[in-house]
Amino acid sequence: AVVVHRKMKMSGRWIKAMEIVKQFEEKCGTPISKLRQVADAMTVEMHAGLASEGGSKLKMLISYVDNLPTGNEKGLFYALDLGGTNFRVLRVQLGGKDSGIVNQQFEEVSIPPSLMTGTSDALFDYIAAELAKFVSREGTDFQLTPGRQRELGFTFSFPVMQSSIASGTLLRWTKGFSIDETVGQDVVAELTKAMERQGLDMRVSALVNDTVGTLAGGRYTNNDVIAAVILGTGSNAAYVERAQAIPKWHGLLPKSGQMVINMEWGNFRSSHLPLTEYDHALDAESLNPGEQIYEKVISGMYLGEIVRRVLCRMAEEAAFFGDTVPPKLKVPFVLRTPVMSAMHQDTSPDLKIVANKLKDILEISNTFLKMRKVIVELCDIVARRGARLSAAGILGILKKMGRDTIKEGEKQRTVIAMDGGLYEHYTEYRKSLENSLNELLGEEVSETIVVEHSNDGSGIGAALLAASHSQYLEMDES
Ligand code: BGC
Ligand code: MG
Repeated sequence: AVVVHRKMKMSGRWIKAMEIVKQFEEKCGTPISKLRQVADAMTVEMHAGLASEGGSKLKMLISYVDNLPTGNEKGLFYALDLGGTNFRVLRVQLGGKDSGIVNQQFEEVSIPPSLMTGTSDALFDYIAAELAKFVSREGTDFQLTPGRQRELGFTFSFPVMQSSIASGTLLRWTKGFSIDETVGQDVVAELTKAMERQGLDMRVSALVNDTVGTLAGGRYTNNDVIAAVILGTGSNAAYVERAQAIPKWHGLLPKSGQMVINMEWGNFRSSHLPLTEYDHALDAESLNPGEQIYEKVISGMYLGEIVRRVLCRMAEEAAFFGDTVPPKLKVPFVLRTPVMSAMHQDTSPDLKIVANKLKDILEISNTFLKMRKVIVELCDIVARRGARLSAAGILGILKKMGRDTIKEGEKQRTVIAMDGGLYEHYTEYRKSLENSLNELLGEEVSETIVVEHSNDGSGIGAALLAASHSQYLEMDES
């Protein structure tokens, strides 16, 4: 009798757990019709954000980049890339038209988590100190024109209201960063002061978002690049807009007639987004409630956390892992997206990787195969929703640019430069994104659209923009 009772209890739990999964799956649905609605909403918000400051949740920030790299850039330039879990410093020797990139070196440094929520000075001092160390190791493979000051492209991957190519105030932090006193400050001034405190003589010549840097880096090697998307810890896109299509721009029309727009698409939201109770709870408990809603369903910082929240519910309400809720499972952000990705892509017949991750990360060791399959399924639901929604966002941009159809007699190629750890490392996500985009565009149009992985193009891009905005430019041209 005892055995029978336990089995029934077991199956009752199982049924309850499956109900939770099924309800979640239904709420996460992204049929093509819904994706089209999301794409259209994105296009509408793009127009609204360009029309007036504050006209939309989409900030559509003016980057002051009205010319993309041409290949003529010359000299030694530095870049500093801050925005995710790591920051990078880079130097590049640009040889001009025929030689391109003659030499480059970079270093990646992880940011101590405490600095992400500490003080402004502590963060900028740390960055400036690492940069100063890097500069001191320049060696003789790199040649600064004698008598000149070193120049830097600063990739700062947060929403910034720029007032020129080399200045701008932080609107707010995103991702894991939260330092109140920096908000409203000119981040170039903050960095410059920190460099001075380090005794480092360097001028910031360009302040760029990582999307803008990626766009510039992509264009340097491929003339058809017209937009860039980042799918990493956070997510965002930038693209080349006609200056005349930016009503809120009251400055002079640039000679090129173009302006790169940093969309800050992470802050997009729409009633068409398939959000669940787990997403609402995640948002409410986040560092930035009510903000970056699109980012919170598509980007790397959050995907694993969504899975954790569903598993937690299954443990609490359906005793999925037994009579007690595994304590580790209650810790926010313990289940990181790379772990989710590894579990999702486990091809071993007995799902050994899933078992190991559960044991190592969540200290759960009593799983059987059927349970592990459910966990893989959960990862799939969350990743697929994110990937398909980001494909819809890309379609929104293509529509705004008129590149979602083929113009009579035109053979134009459209290349989107893509970067970020999520895109780079989460194969199932990337495949789902690509399939959805093809499905949305149809066969004929998808042949004209290329998503190209631009590996760390944002650092090079920032250095290129520092070169094209160098204080010595006129001297070099005359
Ligand atoms: C930031 C963007 C950035 C993106 C990707 C978002 O959280 O708001 O500025 O481009 O992350 O790094
Ligand atoms: Mg990379």
